[in-house]
Amino acid sequence: MLIYLFCYDVSPHNSHSFPALIYSLSMKTCITCGMPLTGNHANDIGLELPEGPVCKFDSENGKVKSAEAIFEGGIVFFAEETTDGDRELAERLTRKNMHSLSYWKTHPFKKLEGTEATDAEFETAMAKL
Ligand SMILES: [Zn+2]
Repeated sequence: MLIYLFCYDVSPHNSHSFPALIYSLSMKTCITCGMPLTGNHANDIGLELPEGPVCKFDSENGKVKSAEAIFEGGIVFFAEETTDGDRELAERLTRKNMHSLSYWKTHPFKKLEGTEATDAEFETAMAKL
């Protein structure tokens, strides 16, 4: 599970690199988590799909990992980095982030259904990254 933590850019020097919501769509980002794939992360591309690149943390053996695994990775990330372990909030933050990515509009899965974080909650969480 630990590896999923690094799926998201937590660099304090580059606060604009995450999440997809504030990251420019014109930049190269992972289509499944929104992680930037430029600069320090230029070598983190694990897979190139017709829809775009997938980071190495969201792919395995030439395939995108399961939606559930990527979703869980987001929860772990947000819980540890932004919510002091509040998993319920982390889950809603993950949902909001994934909803912002067009990939999940065409690859819906059960856990994506449910309550999303509010804009205020999301902004508060982002400010901690
Ligand atoms: Zn990714």
